[in-house]
Amino acid sequence: MLRTHTCGQLRLSDTGKSVTLSGWVQRSRDLGGMTFVDLRDRYGLTQLAFNMETNPELCLQARKLGREFVIAATGKVIERSSKNLKIPTGEIEIMVEKLEVLNASKVPPFTIEEETDGGEELRMRYRYLDLRRNPLRRNLELRHRMAIETRNYMDAQGFLEIETPFLIKSTPEGARDFVVPSRVHHGKFYALPQSPQTFKQILMVAGYDRYYQIVRCFRDEDLRADRQPEFTQIDCEMAFVTQEDILNTFEGLGRHLFKAIKGIDPGSFPRMSYADAMKYYGSDKPDIRFEMKFVELKDLLKNKGFSVFDFAELVVGICAEGCAEYSRKQLDDLTEFVKKPQIGAKGLVYIQYKPNGSLKSSVDKFYSPEDLQKVTEAFKAKPGDLILILAGDTYKTRKALNKLRLEMGSRLGLRNPEEFRPLWVLDFPLLEWDEETKRFYAMHHPFTSPKPEDIPLLDTDPRMVRANAYDLVINGVEIGGGSVRIHNKELQKKMFQILGFTDEDAQAQFGFLMNAFEYGAPPHGGIAFGFDRWVALFAGVDSIRDVIAFPKNNAGQDMMIDSPAEISGEQLKELGVRTVGL
Ligand code: ASP
Repeated sequence: MLRTHTCGQLRLSDTGKSVTLSGWVQRSRDLGGMTFVDLRDRYGLTQLAFNMETNPELCLQARKLGREFVIAATGKVIERSSKNLKIPTGEIEIMVEKLEVLNASKVPPFTIEEETDGGEELRMRYRYLDLRRNPLRRNLELRHRMAIETRNYMDAQGFLEIETPFLIKSTPEGARDFVVPSRVHHGKFYALPQSPQTFKQILMVAGYDRYYQIVRCFRDEDLRADRQPEFTQIDCEMAFVTQEDILNTFEGLGRHLFKAIKGIDPGSFPRMSYADAMKYYGSDKPDIRFEMKFVELKDLLKNKGFSVFDFAELVVGICAEGCAEYSRKQLDDLTEFVKKPQIGAKGLVYIQYKPNGSLKSSVDKFYSPEDLQKVTEAFKAKPGDLILILAGDTYKTRKALNKLRLEMGSRLGLRNPEEFRPLWVLDFPLLEWDEETKRFYAMHHPFTSPKPEDIPLLDTDPRMVRANAYDLVINGVEIGGGSVRIHNKELQKKMFQILGFTDEDAQAQFGFLMNAFEYGAPPHGGIAFGFDRWVALFAGVDSIRDVIAFPKNNAGQDMMIDSPAEISGEQLKELGVRTVGL
């Protein structure tokens, strides 16, 4: 071995030992009589000391070491005279007796420190250098621990980890598929799985009643900030269970991870219906670290001559505690905020409930103090609070107020990243109507079961059908989602009809699943968690890129290997693929 210890290992109790450390030169300081080099590996940092008086040759050699040189140093562990108590090895240093340069390094294009001066693109291009930095190392270690703890829990619950294929076939539902041309069957294509959904259901038919997999999924979606074309799920399925069993099993996984990784017990996860989530938070993934619930106000505020409210489908507000003294400028800022195109409100009405009990609003012309008082009562507001109201079409207004609520939550410091509030959101609608294509889409996916009591509505009012579908939300982030599945061929066929498939299409695309359902499919259901997001949440980072070793950039490119890239005419020919312009 080129080392006896790692750079994070030695302590005061090791003083006197003869050791060899290997690693990268983080920095060196030349103090005349002494030269110090900080040596780094993934375990930590140890100071190497070189003495000009006792060993001038070695000291001169040390002075020539550049940043990121790879070296091996042998010497004695000694107590440091000026200790650095910020790092675990900070009480000792190595008085070096032998130095070997294992490899030189070019000057790195950015600093490899806790905080770097490198821009995003540069760091992606030199990912191997960025990965040497502590923040990324910590994130990858956390990711590893979470994967191990997931496996521990799932194994203890009797789940089998089973791999499903990556080369499958394209189906029209869901996102766009990545496709892979077949060399042997010209004109035919494999597709990379968006998830192992159909395979895990077939495993249930096959009798593997508890399946899971930490698995890569691929979706060729339009790129948005923090989307990765390939990402990792903890994908799970169970047979002979009800929705309640599934929720309990995976609440168990959640609690296990909280306990093992964060050392906290979040208690049992509260539950909220999709309808309530939309009504009280304007979002299907409410951040419940803070209250600030929506209150609908149309009944209180209509017919007073303020036409904006009179004609609005929904008048709805939130109460920001202790913000009554916001200045004109602050209120104008909030109005600007809600009018941004991404938020989309036309304006903002406010009521300041002054600490002395008086009321001042932006609509004083239309409403008497008594009218406004009633509004404060609807919120159970206290003097000192600020009420913010939006009006318009129900869906858009709720969405806009959700953003304003989150903004106020952030401004008031109510979204502490170290506080975790999980939530189950239940009873999602089964279907979503798309105005553009004039057809229904499955809100979750086409295999999701309607609530049995809502099945008759499939014929009369499909929009009202609720699904046995659920999401796990933590701090306003959707961490996972799943459903009880349809396991009856006829119901599955009907679902495909509602989604606009002809029987032939359904047979061609999903015949294998429907056929399997004819051979004794047990009742089943499952869930998949976005592993990258969960790790990012626990790591306290905003971007999943920071918890993936080799992520793609926002344009879907890997800057390090320069992918996607062209392939040779020869390869194209072999694959039977013609491209425009070739
Ligand atoms: N396959 C689903 C998804 O990727 C999750 C599930 O229903 O289990 O969203």
